Amino acid sequence: MMPGRLGGTRELIMRAPHSSDSHLRAHNERVRILVAEDEVKLAALLRRGLVEEAHAVDVAVTGEDALARAHATEYDAIVLDLMLPGIDGLEVCRRLRADGVWSPVLMLTARDALEDRIGGLDAGADDYLTKPFAFAELLARLRAVARRAAPERPAVIAVGDLTLDPATHSVRRGNTEIELSPKEFALLETFMRQPNRVLSRFELLEHAWDYDYDNRSNVIDVYVRYLREKVDRPFGRTSLETVRGAGYRLRADG
Ligand code: CA
Repeated sequence: MMPGRLGGTRELIMRAPHSSDSHLRAHNERVRILVAEDEVKLAALLRRGLVEEAHAVDVAVTGEDALARAHATEYDAIVLDLMLPGIDGLEVCRRLRADGVWSPVLMLTARDALEDRIGGLDAGADDYLTKPFAFAELLARLRAVARRAAPERPAVIAVGDLTLDPATHSVRRGNTEIELSPKEFALLETFMRQPNRVLSRFELLEHAWDYDYDNRSNVIDVYVRYLREKVDRPFGRTSLETVRGAGYRLRADG
């Protein structure tokens, strides 16, 4: 077993767990992972653990290095530390997304602050993990983000005069183009795939984030507010409805 928590002050070097379901992909398919972490000891531990899981692992210790590697190789997942010297993790993530690099990103943050998490998600990260963390949890989240990255090109979805194109990541209300952050987009897509249905915070977290990492988090409420400011308020609409005690719903006639 790996030590209980990684990224803390005391770390022991031990073996990673070997369980049949611990691989990122079924059938032992080799997964390429980039670990961008300047704490050399933690980076080495992660590398060793992931290599023992039969993954191919590259390590970058600066933001510049991470950017260069992520542009050169199509990684199946990137473990990206928020606090990197030079270009920090947020900026690395932003630049990758701006450059059309869509490798799933799991952001490592040093503290469990909502603004850090939202910052990371808004920069285009798929999920985050707070230090210190258990190696098993890192594997679970990498599995989740790598799974969600499966290529899929569905047709344009329409709810009322709201349209969303998953292929081009574009959203319109009528003829007006609406700019959304990646997480806002994911949440809106979840609503639009099930119009008029009441969705609980839990369901929204599960679908839009693909991982129920913090059931008590108010991250959904925060994002629903952001969405309303973009898809409803400028158009004098109230399509995103709060259903007291149950969750939210997107009304087709709202
Ligand atoms: Ca760091």
